Amino acid sequence: MAKLGAGGRTEAVALARRSGLLADQPPMSPGHAGNLSFTSVYRVNRTYAPAVAVARRDVLVALGATVAGAAGALGGDRAVAAAHDRVPLPFYGTSVSGIRPDESAPGATHASVVWAGEAGGQRRLALTFDDGPDPQWTPRVLATLARHDVPATFFLRGDHLSQHAQVYAGHEHHEFANHTWDHPDLGRFTYDHVVDQLGRTGDEIASVFGRRPTLFRPPYGHVGGSTLLAAAEARLTTVFWSSQMREDRCAAHPDTIVGDIRGQVRPGHIVLAHDSGSADRAITIDHLDAIIAGLHADGYELVTVSELLAAAPVAARLPA
Ligand SMILES: [Zn+2]
Repeated sequence: MAKLGAGGRTEAVALARRSGLLADQPPMSPGHAGNLSFTSVYRVNRTYAPAVAVARRDVLVALGATVAGAAGALGGDRAVAAAHDRVPLPFYGTSVSGIRPDESAPGATHASVVWAGEAGGQRRLALTFDDGPDPQWTPRVLATLARHDVPATFFLRGDHLSQHAQVYAGHEHHEFANHTWDHPDLGRFTYDHVVDQLGRTGDEIASVFGRRPTLFRPPYGHVGGSTLLAAAEARLTTVFWSSQMREDRCAAHPDTIVGDIRGQVRPGHIVLAHDSGSADRAITIDHLDAIIAGLHADGYELVTVSELLAAAPVAARLPA
């Protein structure tokens, strides 16, 4: 298990298990198809009042975010996550997971955090690709998307974009979102460092594509309070995911990645993939054509994350 936030762990794990977000649990039973029962979209919509205790449901949601991210880290940069496991967070005397270092009030009253879109009776999915652009893999992804005439959402690293922005020429219709400048574990970062990571990357995306991103995904799915605040102040929706490519499970028989993702997804899901990184992730790139064809055969329409989130009103909800 990758690291979890301190306190309330049992409740958070139980919540994540019910939500199908822990990697060692099956996703959701087929009976839930079309009727997402977990916290698919949640807005922490609470007026800030320093002396008022945080509502229990806010704590649960915050822990749920950490667990969701931890589950993702298991399938991703495990070496990095494992290394961080052995370094205790400096909870006291710092503002790593707190609010502003000068103890001034938050500049936003709430944050928007999503794991999926409301299904709304539609079989829609959003494919997302993290960590690019990569000069070898990203052009292959873009060509495959173009062949199927489907959009995707790319969560970009600012440093990679500053080196390889040309790969997107002719493909500017996709959604481009913020994945920090150089992919640090933001859960260990101060507010000021998070502001810097988000700001520099947003500026780079704006300079390349002429529009600022509205979505942000934290590397490894790790967040602290400082991350959520900095994102909210930058008017960024924090986007986790509800299904993910599991290349590690498919290494012995790479073509099983197609059936694996077709078996995971449900209407409204946000699907995590990578177009940069370790060699094993090439399994997804190699099979992307078959994956998209399979999802189409299952009746899914592929849309960007913003289109998915706009499909139905966002409402606060908790698991039953
Ligand atoms: Zn990443």
